[in-house]
Amino acid sequence: MSLSSGARTHVKRNLTDGLAARTPGRSPQVQHCNSRQPSRASAGSRPSKGASLTSRARRKSGGAPRRCRSRAPAGWQRLAIFSCIIPECLQRAMHRLLHYLFHTRNHTFIVLHLVLQGMVYTEYTWEVFGYCQELEFSLYYLLLPYLLLIINVFSFTLTCVTNPGIITKANELLFLHVYEFDEVMFPKNVRCSTCDLRKPARSKHCSVCNWCVHRFDHHCVWVNNCIGAWNIRYFLIYLLTLTASAATVAIVSTAFLVHLVVMSDLYQETYIDDFGHLHTMDTVFLIQYLFLTFPRIVFMLGFVMVLSFLLGGYLCFAVYLAATNQTTNEWHRGDGAWCWHCPLVAQRPSAEPQVHQNIHSHGLRSNLQEIFLPAFPYHERKKQE
Ligand SMILES: [Zn+2]
Ligand SMILES: [Zn+2]
Repeated sequence: MSLSSGARTHVKRNLTDGLAARTPGRSPQVQHCNSRQPSRASAGSRPSKGASLTSRARRKSGGAPRRCRSRAPAGWQRLAIFSCIIPECLQRAMHRLLHYLFHTRNHTFIVLHLVLQGMVYTEYTWEVFGYCQELEFSLYYLLLPYLLLIINVFSFTLTCVTNPGIITKANELLFLHVYEFDEVMFPKNVRCSTCDLRKPARSKHCSVCNWCVHRFDHHCVWVNNCIGAWNIRYFLIYLLTLTASAATVAIVSTAFLVHLVVMSDLYQETYIDDFGHLHTMDTVFLIQYLFLTFPRIVFMLGFVMVLSFLLGGYLCFAVYLAATNQTTNEWHRGDGAWCWHCPLVAQRPSAEPQVHQNIHSHGLRSNLQEIFLPAFPYHERKKQE
């Protein structure tokens, strides 16, 4: 890759200005982002005794369905350890805020998502794209994040607005014939205590949206919608393109910084520390120097790198579930999430444990087809076989 004399002068001027303006010995401020732990779905879908009684009482009285449960989430109870140092009014406000954010439908995370995505792409366009063009990077390579962004925004919108498979009086019978009941995780003839509808196999009542969803996967606060049979395909494309766009922005930004270091022979430079000692350039100092010279680019790079690893891990999990025809809800309730050491998911095995078997997996091709094409009743599938 050849470098024009104008670009070389511009980049070297940037480096010189950065060195002159900042003290080399200073350590850059490191900001930590708190990633939200995914909230655990409730362990069982069978109506509890209390819930059934409540439902019966409500039906008798003809009252409106409850919007949400008043039971405090287990995770919040951990806040009790801070009760001696946090004032009660602040605790109540925190509970209300957490309840609003995670247990009611709201657009907070959609706005946050768009703001973060907008900030990353603004920085990419404003600085990285321009510098890389000066360094004569391939235009196709530089435009790839924009292509991924278009697909991502499109699939994100579809995930948000598509009906995930809400079960109503009108389609209840249709959904009852789509999947076979395994009589372990999904027994026959069970009614939803809130919707008062028969529960089809693989369905679950979403306490946030207050409806039952066919092939319920989970409720996603980032799209403010349930992920079910009818929008899981858009969700997977959204997840894939989001991971890919974060990874490509990270790769282009890293390539730019590495190219800059190599081109400027920074590794051969020396510096004098606060005590007057002469040192050759090492990796830690180089990262500090780049952060002080290009703070926005290095901060964005750190953010998209962490995001790429987190999203990449979650994408692998989502692809594994899709390939084995499981939902997050089923995985959580099945053997996959059982743990002796975790009080939130630990369930003591009964004297005669009922073994859950995945009866819905029919091979990789069929499983993926079920995700990307609408499911059809199992008895029709049996006819075809
Ligand atoms: Zn329901
Ligand atoms: Zn929901």
